[in-house]
Amino acid sequence: MNKVTILGTNSALPTSGRFSSAQVLQMFERYFLIDCAEGTQMRLRQANISFARIKAIFISHLHSDHFLGIFGMLSTFSMLGRKHALSLYAPKGLSEILNSPQARYLVGELQFELHIHTLPDEDYTEIYSDKKLTVHSIRLHHRIDTWGFYFKEKPSINVKKEAISQYNLSLDEIIAVKNGHDIHRPQGEIISNAELRVTDKPLLSYAYISDTAFFPQIAQYIQGVRLLYHEATFLHSMLPRAIETFHTTARQAGEFAKLAQAERLLIGHFSARYKSVEELEKEAKEVFANTVAAKDLESYPL
Ligand SMILES: [Zn+2]
Repeated sequence: MNKVTILGTNSALPTSGRFSSAQVLQMFERYFLIDCAEGTQMRLRQANISFARIKAIFISHLHSDHFLGIFGMLSTFSMLGRKHALSLYAPKGLSEILNSPQARYLVGELQFELHIHTLPDEDYTEIYSDKKLTVHSIRLHHRIDTWGFYFKEKPSINVKKEAISQYNLSLDEIIAVKNGHDIHRPQGEIISNAELRVTDKPLLSYAYISDTAFFPQIAQYIQGVRLLYHEATFLHSMLPRAIETFHTTARQAGEFAKLAQAERLLIGHFSARYKSVEELEKEAKEVFANTVAAKDLESYPL
């Protein structure tokens, strides 16, 4: 099943029921760990997610509530006898930290290959691609360099059988249609791709946007996203605090979901000051009805 399991919904300070940021995205049998706060290993066990299934780890930024769990995690992978390579997508600083003598002492000798990919400076870049999906990094607007991640199913375009005979499509033209192009005939006739392709089912997509100040400019990159996770650290009554700490309010998260024309919004990264997150959910819902406040250990289908 394609889904995201939330391992922690809190911001910097964990509370007894809410851990800090980490989640596992399952998409086409691939398991991606997104952020890795302290306590992630415990949460993986509680969520019944096999450590061995994790294919890659994506770290958004180097605030401790997003990456402190990585040391124990890597060490445990070795202890569990992991042999297959692990990819780690992270800000430049993490590779420096992991190569330091202190981290080497903490983590021990790795029994598997660790491929560290430094996140690019550009606003929006493809950082991963396989047969079924792509992942793009998105530069966010936080106190330190921070990236969001956009996981997208790859479109597979099929050409309508009747269109092939109707338009007498050549092999080159069929390939062009499959690659998403319109057909331009020498006589000037243009046959649109939409007319030639089999109507596609909506593609799966998931965007992870945490942590950031309200940053409407990036909504363009994730237009029509099926499931959007956006931080909503504060209620809007605390807007000055949100601005000061480069975080978003629940109302702003709703506004962002609207701008991105998201299908559904999942809010998280809650301040520990909120005993219950109902108010945050209510506030976001006033702007974007299809909102749910994420719960620790809960899974949400894509
Ligand atoms: Zn942060």
